[in-house]
Amino acid sequence: MLLPYPRYAHARLARNQDSDHLGSRKLFDLIIKNGTVVDGTGSAKFRADVAIKGDTVVAVGEIDGEATREIDASGKIVTPGFIDLHTHSDSSFLIDSYADSKLTQGVTLELFGNCGMSFCAPLIGGAKDLFEERVNRSGDSLTPTWTDFDGYLTAMENAGSTINIATQIGHGTVRSAVMYMESRMPTPEELDRMVGLFADALDAGALGMSTGLWYAPGSYSLADEIIAVTQPAADRGKLYSSHIRSEADDLSGLFPAHAEAIEIGRRTGARIQISHVKAVGPKFWGRGYELIEGMERARAEGIDVAGDQYPYEWSSTGFSGAMFARWALVGGRQATLDRLADSDSRAQVRADVTYYINRNHSAAGCVIASFPPDQSLEGRSLQDIADEWGCEPEEAALRLYEQSEGSYVLHSMELRDVDAIAKWPLMAIASDGSSLRDEGPLSSGKPHPRSYATNSVIIEQFVEQRGLFSIEEAVYKMTALPASRLNLSRRGRIAPGQIADVLVFDPANVKQNNDFVNPHIYSTGMDYVFVNGRPALENGKPNGTLLGKVLRSLDD
Ligand SMILES: [Zn+2]
Repeated sequence: MLLPYPRYAHARLARNQDSDHLGSRKLFDLIIKNGTVVDGTGSAKFRADVAIKGDTVVAVGEIDGEATREIDASGKIVTPGFIDLHTHSDSSFLIDSYADSKLTQGVTLELFGNCGMSFCAPLIGGAKDLFEERVNRSGDSLTPTWTDFDGYLTAMENAGSTINIATQIGHGTVRSAVMYMESRMPTPEELDRMVGLFADALDAGALGMSTGLWYAPGSYSLADEIIAVTQPAADRGKLYSSHIRSEADDLSGLFPAHAEAIEIGRRTGARIQISHVKAVGPKFWGRGYELIEGMERARAEGIDVAGDQYPYEWSSTGFSGAMFARWALVGGRQATLDRLADSDSRAQVRADVTYYINRNHSAAGCVIASFPPDQSLEGRSLQDIADEWGCEPEEAALRLYEQSEGSYVLHSMELRDVDAIAKWPLMAIASDGSSLRDEGPLSSGKPHPRSYATNSVIIEQFVEQRGLFSIEEAVYKMTALPASRLNLSRRGRIAPGQIADVLVFDPANVKQNNDFVNPHIYSTGMDYVFVNGRPALENGKPNGTLLGKVLRSLDD
């Protein structure tokens, strides 16, 4: 039987012990004085000073020792830095080391390579082609000097980042490396190669693995294949994160998709993280609580399954994933374009688009987030564009894709489900967004505001305005809980021996400043953000230092 919460009794003990025998001789690099500590474990906040030496918290309690620097945190809370388990920042810091949309919300560590997509590595076979297609489309200046995971991690270390970063290896990327976009089972040799690529990446420093079973080519795999490629992660105590096979009524359907994720945990022993838990489409709106019941049952059976969520009713994904049946994507983009060039198969593809539109709150709820060839369409809905073009929204979706891949934001959920899912104690908060910046190459398009405001929305709306849970619970969902999912030993709590990723802020001041129309605006409210013991954001502003580390081990 698994405990519902990780226990950190020793943290409290250590706090008392350390504070007792601290003399005034001891020199610290930093003392955060007079704050109220919300230590990340979910236990009640308490008044304490926090002393840091090097990159480590060395004492929590009443501290008299001298320090090079002291910060007065009166009236503020002091928390661990937020850990965002589900992001797509795989190339962000290679493009701009100061991609601060997460830092400004208090995120000090993010994990990418989600939804089966670790599109930057490995860069071999079909995965290299897909990477090049992506870079050509976005116009990003990305010239890879690597092919494998080790080289990719080294490139990120050389580029530098303002926050800590860690990666997962994605099944979709590995499958495309070995089998491109083919809709069939792998041969035994191909499966062996895939398993080997997973093992290599995990040994090079990927902290987990992910699948995107809803997306092509992940959708072309059977559970058998997923079980085989998950075993290397399970054997190494690393996380399995899954964008499951369905979040609505497509492919397997929502509830069987949860059951499949749980079965992979049952068969491999891996820790299972169901990504961005949600109920999509008219058949499932109002049934979010049933997903929690299912995960509770699996946990009672001894399967370590939990989830994460972003606090919005809108989702976001690429044109092809959002609007096309998976059969229409077999063979890659050119094969799809060939199907659209033939009037009979075009009619078939279009007929299926109706279903994809209706997973959302109508074509008015399908809004263009990015469309590189014509940015004037960004922020406009499929209905709006169809009206202007004098066609049905289905036809508009095809014509858009014919010009370019792009992405939508989609009104696909309901608040009652978002709330029911958010209230589960084991539901971590994760953005599903990317580290972006309010200027430069990462400031294009109208991306989902979650990249700039997920953590701020939780504090401002879910805690302060709506009282859905306490600040202690909210901080737990953003710190010790995600750290325990990943199995990180030294992050996610305020306690002696923990790495000093530390925030100082007043929850009442935390604000989301952006929206779907103007997404590229930083959140405010963080007074200080310390990354690995040193200030990365001071008096509310990033200070331009690159303090982030690429985590390659669970003890980093
Ligand atoms: Zn996803």
